[in-house]
Amino acid sequence: ATNFVIEGLKAEIEGKEILKGINLSMKGGEIHAIMGPNGTGKSTLASALMGHPKYEVTGGSVTLNGEDVLEMEVDERARAGMFLAMQYPSEIAGVTNSDFLRSAINARREEGSEISLIKFIRQMEGKMKELEMNPEFAHRYLNEGFSGGEKKRNEILQMMLLDPSLVILDEIDSGLDIDALRIVANGVNAMKSEDRGFLIITHYQRLLNYIKPDFVHVMMQGRIVKSGGPELAERLEAEGYDWVKEELGIED
Ligand code: ADP
Ligand code: MG
Ligand code: MG
Repeated sequence: ATNFVIEGLKAEIEGKEILKGINLSMKGGEIHAIMGPNGTGKSTLASALMGHPKYEVTGGSVTLNGEDVLEMEVDERARAGMFLAMQYPSEIAGVTNSDFLRSAINARREEGSEISLIKFIRQMEGKMKELEMNPEFAHRYLNEGFSGGEKKRNEILQMMLLDPSLVILDEIDSGLDIDALRIVANGVNAMKSEDRGFLIITHYQRLLNYIKPDFVHVMMQGRIVKSGGPELAERLEAEGYDWVKEELGIED
């Protein structure tokens, strides 16, 4: 089963410290939500965990099943089973969605055991159907001209096909209307398994009506300042973040 541990993680961007010591521990089968005001470092956390070169990790440790994640290159993290659905997925000109997906799947496999084209197409078409995606999206260039909602659905398609052991979803709900939100949430819920942990980053509680978290963490100014169960998300939705600041004596 998956065991993911973040201890005292610090990271900076362009010399400015954003993450000031993040502690978080999760196991397979668990869904953790991270909520917090804008600009608090949520996306920085996601990017630092995946090894984005723009973010310099300056302290702490991250392990996945006992292996040192911070020592791994970006592609090694993916191969170790980490997956990030980004808040702002990038476009890749000249690479079709299906080519991208197939090489991402093969990158996680041993040489010589690549997925057959037939099997890949069958899997991709099945998952696209589940996500109610137009089949033509397989042949479109990755994210090029996709709407916000289409990009997010496509991130979930990648997640489903890659079968990761640790899933990080960064504001997957932004840009989704309520129908798309339900489809995306169904996709995530169907992926819930003892072998997989989820870290769901969201600004709004709305998503958590569809994906029930086991734990909710509030992030402010680069730290996790409060943790609880689903009731914490409900209180944040009803009352905003000010009461947390007051309770903990956090200044703006
Ligand atoms: P959140 O996802 O919680 O809204 P971010 O992690 O995106 O927060 O941003 C945290 C802080 O880091 C903000 O002050 C933001 O301006 C800064 N930041 C994030 N990315 C960059 C970047 N590429 N260059 C400079 N500053 C950045
Ligand atoms: Mg933001
Ligand atoms: Mg963000």
